Amino acid sequence: MIYLDNAATTAVDRRVTAAMEPYLSDIYFNPSASYTPAARCRAAVRKAAGKVAKLIGAEPDEIVFTSGGTESDNTALREGALYAVSRRLKREIYTVDESVAAELGFRPAIVTSSIEHPAVLRTCERLEKEGFEIRYVAPDNEGFVHIGDIEAALTPAVVMLSLMAANNEVGTVQDLVSAGRLAHERDVIFHTDAVQALGHIPLDVNSMNIDLLSGSAHKLNGPKGTGVLYVRSGIELKPFIEGGGQQYGLRSGTENTAGIVGFGEAASLALEGMNEAAVYTAGLRDVFTSTILNTLSGVTVNGTTDYARRLPGNINLSFDGTEGTSLLIRLDTKGICCSTGSACAASGGQPSHVLKAMGLDERRIKGSLRFSFSAANTREDAVLAAEAVIEAAHFLRSMMPQ
Ligand code: PLP
Repeated sequence: MIYLDNAATTAVDRRVTAAMEPYLSDIYFNPSASYTPAARCRAAVRKAAGKVAKLIGAEPDEIVFTSGGTESDNTALREGALYAVSRRLKREIYTVDESVAAELGFRPAIVTSSIEHPAVLRTCERLEKEGFEIRYVAPDNEGFVHIGDIEAALTPAVVMLSLMAANNEVGTVQDLVSAGRLAHERDVIFHTDAVQALGHIPLDVNSMNIDLLSGSAHKLNGPKGTGVLYVRSGIELKPFIEGGGQQYGLRSGTENTAGIVGFGEAASLALEGMNEAAVYTAGLRDVFTSTILNTLSGVTVNGTTDYARRLPGNINLSFDGTEGTSLLIRLDTKGICCSTGSACAASGGQPSHVLKAMGLDERRIKGSLRFSFSAANTREDAVLAAEAVIEAAHFLRSMMPQ
């Protein structure tokens, strides 16, 4: 098998599973328990918070562990938006109703991009039904959201900006430094969905003025079902999940100690090896891409060809005269795993909203495939996979009626 779907999920690093194992067996205590052995679990959670914090330049107290990127996005948007309005009004609110809008003098607005992950987009749709106005900024045809367009959308009614750090389908890395500066200047809460970026490219919550950040362990060789929500100190969110008051009362539920320990270990390994891994995976991606582009006609790169501005392991290609799904199936029979856009879009059978927002025509969208490399891939993988893609495209094109 050649696994080229690392944007969907990654293999858990053996050093991560080794770090987790004791917390699944011998050190199984509830971190909230009062007896001495449980203190080891509390300490392990705390230590992991420090490791994840270090990856983004935050403090351990600003780290809240969640069940994954989806929960982090939901919490950030829903509770962040309410907090943003409360801050403007200087009183606590729980919903945005007519009286809140009347007091503000406007309907509070959230600015986001039209290429966000469904975890952000669906939450925004819900918030729209609950009284917020949502403004979607479109990207250019390479997948970049322009700061000028964000600035134009940030009128005084805007209380929150949510902009992903890097796109899951085309890998384009957004200008968070400029976005964060703008948000900060305008008293707008700044959230970033960094699920694809975390551990792969440098992120710094201070220089980027990030107030809320979502991440997920399984995208950086950690376990599935463990996420992070970074909450800048001083930002007072209400809990999205109510219960026993764990994690500063912000996210109740007995901590997933083993998962959290695994996340901490994955974060440390990612930080240590980030530069080397980025150069290596970008090299594999480039060998793969150039082999295909130099041999096969009718192939276009989706997203920017300025490869330094996309995630190191990401490439998204459209193949004329064939459909991405047919290619995917043929590649699967050869043991090559890739994806038609995001896993979610693939399962829903919907054409990619990202490529659509970038203005690509339907044929190019239908003919697209995403390949995402990791440091676990080899140069041989890249070459063999490229040859398999070339063969599969030739085969499928030969089957098409002339
Ligand atoms: N946000 C982005 C950009 C993603 O790529 C994903 C997962 O693919 C998510 C959020 C959801 O993360 P999780 O799978 O941890 O819920």
